[in-house]
Amino acid sequence: MTTQRTFSILKPDVTQRNLTGAVNAKIEAAGLRIIAQKRIHMSLKQAETFYAVHSARPFFGELTQMMSAAPVVVQVLEADNAIARYREVMGATNPANAAPGTIRKEFAVSMGENSVHGSDAEETAAIEIAQFFAGNEIVG
Ligand code: GDP
Repeated sequence: MTTQRTFSILKPDVTQRNLTGAVNAKIEAAGLRIIAQKRIHMSLKQAETFYAVHSARPFFGELTQMMSAAPVVVQVLEADNAIARYREVMGATNPANAAPGTIRKEFAVSMGENSVHGSDAEETAAIEIAQFFAGNEIVG
């Protein structure tokens, strides 16, 4: 497997509870390198664009409101097999089902406020990275 990049968001429940460093420590301990990172306050429009794939779901309004209600940290992570590696350390979407030691098991509040986002495939990773980072902001 060659080096791969994935897109990550530390969600508002992380920034609001001052857990940015704690989550980053888990990311780095899993062997993922943080090669771009910035703290932003997403607009509702940006959140709706980002989660467009979920626009027909009943939780879409709640999700996009939550993501635009407070700052987030957007990141690009790099490693061999970064997408699967990050999904593994994130844990299951519902923290009640997340494995011990995962970010969501340790930090998530609920199914909605579940601390982190990670891309699910190479194509989506590329689209998500391009929504938030210019090429010269990513330093691998
Ligand atoms: P992920 O890839 O593990 O983040 O999960 P999904 O792509 O299925 O869902 C995207 C995000 O939508 C999740 O991380 C949650 O924040 C949110 N979400 C998913 N299902 C629900 C739900 O049933 N209720 C609420 N409030 N949020 C949800």
